Amino acid sequence: MQPPVDETSDDVQMLFRQVNERVLDLNTDLGSSARIADFVCECRNPECSERLTLSLAEFDAIRRHPNRHVVRSGHVEPAYEHTIDVQNGFSVVERDPTPPFAASQAAA
Ligand SMILES: [Zn+2]
Repeated sequence: MQPPVDETSDDVQMLFRQVNERVLDLNTDLGSSARIADFVCECRNPECSERLTLSLAEFDAIRRHPNRHVVRSGHVEPAYEHTIDVQNGFSVVERDPTPPFAASQAAA
């Protein structure tokens, strides 16, 4: 049995991304004095409401890559994404372009 592709979780991840981009926009509008902001964890758990403290520059660098997301350390789901960078309190992950079943075959 192949695990079903969980489109709902993809939607959740993209929704969190939209929230975070709004956070970035709002803080950018406030000027350079607000250089740290609370972003939401972009993991695939729809019930996760963790907050992550990043500088605006850090989040801006992540969002330049459409497949990259910022998540709380420990919220990485290796079946769907791999870790790019680990910082204090959060990890940067990149979604794998291959479907989960191909990844599991490659690992076997
Ligand atoms: Zn999370």
